[in-house]
Amino acid sequence: MNCLTVLIASIMSNFVPTLPYATDALEPIISKETIDFHYGKHLQTYANNLEKLIRGTALEEESIEEIVIDAPEGAVYNNAGQVMNHQLYFLQFTPTPRLEKPDGVLATLIVRDFGSFEEMQKKMNEASIGLFGSGWVWLCLNEKGQLEINPYPNGDTPLRYGKTPLLGFDVWEHAYYLDYQNRRADHISNLWKIVNWDEVTRRMK
Ligand code: MN
Repeated sequence: MNCLTVLIASIMSNFVPTLPYATDALEPIISKETIDFHYGKHLQTYANNLEKLIRGTALEEESIEEIVIDAPEGAVYNNAGQVMNHQLYFLQFTPTPRLEKPDGVLATLIVRDFGSFEEMQKKMNEASIGLFGSGWVWLCLNEKGQLEINPYPNGDTPLRYGKTPLLGFDVWEHAYYLDYQNRRADHISNLWKIVNWDEVTRRMK
């Protein structure tokens, strides 16, 4: 590789998706400053760590979903889980939501499995506020095709347990502390306003 190739390879990471919005577009719900740190530094660091850890191993040829399933416990899984969780997280938001709540098949399943959209929302809010320390809360589809809300510690991810992650809330302090300080509940209740339900629904396939 020549110098330019090395430079480009160090900037571009297959593990860091391009944001589908400008870094200030989600303000005031998520500030540009938070996106700059969370996407630009935290996710980038997990991606860099993962790339170093899998270099020269069989995992290097796998997709992030395959890596999350196959990774040995410890540093590889911790970084892979965080990479995949953050990819899904940043791609699930939009500054211009087409819908306030899901329509179609996802709406039908939510009513079947939770009673109503508002009940699902309440359960996800409660799980997010109740998760002790750092972690994630996911709306997932289980192996039986049922919707569930599951909290996971640290970088753990539903895919590891055969569940499909649909919508994830990051409750690590780095996700909200600059904008909300200790007000995790306020941050979570605001996130619903920027969910891209078309993207969340697409993940069911
Ligand atoms: Mn995070």
